Amino acid sequence: MADYRKMWESLGMDLETHDQLCEVLPQAFGDVFLSQENRPEAMDYYNFVIAEIHGVRPQELIKAQEEGKKVFGTFCVYVPDELIFAANAIATGLCGGSQFWVPGGEKVLPTNTCPLIKASVGARLDRTCPFFRIADMYIGETTCDGKKKAWEILGEDVPVHVMDLPQMKREKDIKAWAEEIKELKKVIEEFTGNKVTAESLNESIKLINNKRKALSRLYECRKADKVPISGRDALVISQIAFYDDPARFTQMTNKLCDELEQRIKDGVSVVKEGTKRILLTGTPLAVPNWKLHNIIETSGAVVVCEEMCTGTRYFENLVDETKTTVDEQIDALANRYMGINCACFTPNTGRIDDIIRLAKEYKVDGVIDVNLKFCSLYDVEGYTVERALKEAGIPVMGIETDYTDNDAEQLRTRIGAFIEMIGTK
Ligand code: SF4
Ligand code: SF4
Repeated sequence: MADYRKMWESLGMDLETHDQLCEVLPQAFGDVFLSQENRPEAMDYYNFVIAEIHGVRPQELIKAQEEGKKVFGTFCVYVPDELIFAANAIATGLCGGSQFWVPGGEKVLPTNTCPLIKASVGARLDRTCPFFRIADMYIGETTCDGKKKAWEILGEDVPVHVMDLPQMKREKDIKAWAEEIKELKKVIEEFTGNKVTAESLNESIKLINNKRKALSRLYECRKADKVPISGRDALVISQIAFYDDPARFTQMTNKLCDELEQRIKDGVSVVKEGTKRILLTGTPLAVPNWKLHNIIETSGAVVVCEEMCTGTRYFENLVDETKTTVDEQIDALANRYMGINCACFTPNTGRIDDIIRLAKEYKVDGVIDVNLKFCSLYDVEGYTVERALKEAGIPVMGIETDYTDNDAEQLRTRIGAFIEMIGTK
């Protein structure tokens, strides 16, 4: 990585602690990604983004701030990035996926909080992530209890606006979400000093839809019998989608898809014939959480799809681009976002339907339902997920894990046995 120390210093970061993170990340990336054979050439771009993860994009965000733009940090796929870009501001994902940040979160949160929340709070309070320092305002949401309370703690350190996400999907709930989006628009307009117009919103709806289309194209490639890209590579692309410049990300992902589509035509696969195909479902895998994909793909299987927020929940369904007034556009946003099926909703049968549909579309041999430790929402829903899959005759295994490596060997044994089992079905 180039030398960004001056920039990190100016962000008030704890350089000494941050150095420790910078030391371990390249090694981890090398072990998990660069060791793979026959990777698509277009992965070079994403390799570069990860190698410079705390450098290049933060530098761009700071430059944008110097030019008068505001940066908003988000933590959930229900927050409509479209509104932020429509106000000539920038949205960046802030979810923490490293154990490195967890102890910092545990200083203020109970240990039995999900690692995603602990890492996100720790990254801010310990001053060890430039993105968390750069964001001028955080946008939280009332999805799960842990997050709801975490916003109060973060709100003492940085401006936080919380969106009240309904937990059911009745007509009145979709209307209520549209009202929340209107409220967010007001907040963003006041904070940035820029008006969101029908024109600017139309443009940003297209911008984010294009990103969704590129990701959808990538996932379409993963349905092929000859798998043109590993699950690890697809995952890191999904993770990068949360904070990269959306137009550039779309361009680079479409370029990668050109290569993948050519690979499919040429019958090129990253795995040998007969490799078992796995669908991962469950809680999100924030960057740099690559643990499960790495274990699965070094145990003789390949991940072909993620029914996760770092996966299909992020890009499926587009926002209607034909609306011409801001009110109509906001309704279109509310409709699209309320179509996401997160376990914080009740009932959440749409998610079960999604999982069965994806298992068929991606022709999977088995499903691994992943739960981040202490996420009771996905843990409880795991019962329904597993039952539905069993009824559909699709092998399923539920696992619970966190960001540490303490359970890696145990997981390797269990996952290895599952892969072997589905091989003999
Ligand atoms: S799992 Fe639910 S709460 Fe978490 S990011 Fe996804 S949609 Fe948001
Ligand atoms: S994984 Fe579960 S507990 Fe953690 S932030 Fe998401 S919904 Fe909340």
